[in-house]
Amino acid sequence: MNISSAIFDRSAPDLAGCPDESLPEFAFIGRSNSGKSSLLNMLSGKADLARVSPTPGFTKLINFFTMSKTWRLVDLPGYGFAEGAKKDSARFNQAVSHYLKRRPNLCLVFALIDSGLEPQEMDVDFVEWLARNAVPFVLVFTKTDKEPPATVQANIAAFTARIAGWFEELPEIFRCSSTTGQGRSELLGVIGATLDAGPAESEPTPVSVTLPIEVEPPFSLKVRAGNMEEENSREKRNLKGARPW
Ligand code: GDP
Repeated sequence: MNISSAIFDRSAPDLAGCPDESLPEFAFIGRSNSGKSSLLNMLSGKADLARVSPTPGFTKLINFFTMSKTWRLVDLPGYGFAEGAKKDSARFNQAVSHYLKRRPNLCLVFALIDSGLEPQEMDVDFVEWLARNAVPFVLVFTKTDKEPPATVQANIAAFTARIAGWFEELPEIFRCSSTTGQGRSELLGVIGATLDAGPAESEPTPVSVTLPIEVEPPFSLKVRAGNMEEENSREKRNLKGARPW
């Protein structure tokens, strides 16, 4: 799949600020420093599509880009960022949770994980949260050029071993490097295939029946600290079947 244009649409602080639901959306999320900005630039072919931040956690808003006039690339704020005021943190973390759970035109989430690191609890927790909430996602191991292939392979194997019990079938795994361009055509390929397939093929990843239905996001402590009342009263929805894509 080619990208003929990549145009910034808007930054949204919450679900209400998101654009209309007319285009299918593909969202990218990862811990700060996971290599998300670099990957988005690599994917889009634009060196400055997403800012490569010198400060972990710089991006605090949900950023929308219209790609080839037919789909949207959604740059979600990183979880586990270190900087920023508590109130803002709570707000955008809740916004991410709402976006992932409630956005009807969200087709697929790309969960980014640094392949140079052993499994990080925050990443494992986040994948568990995605699974429990039936959010459709694939795993993207980033920076594969950074460490020796054997280290990368060991880290990926260790991560998948941690999450394997939650799935009837493991989520799809991609290996990417923004430095070498590895994985670009594969990621664009899965986006193209999802767009071509339409609603039937974009159902959430099957989840093992041993999981409880509803849990808090791994970043819920910050959410609770900032706005417990709002979080407690949030509407709980199961989007399976509600998505037009
Ligand atoms: P973000 O915080 O998740 O948006 O991560 P960035 O894209 O800002 O990258 C964080 C750091 O990792 C920066 O110093 C990047 O230059 C570096 N980085 C990102 N992707 C790669 C990659 O594919 N290979 C290597 N070697 N370094 C990378």
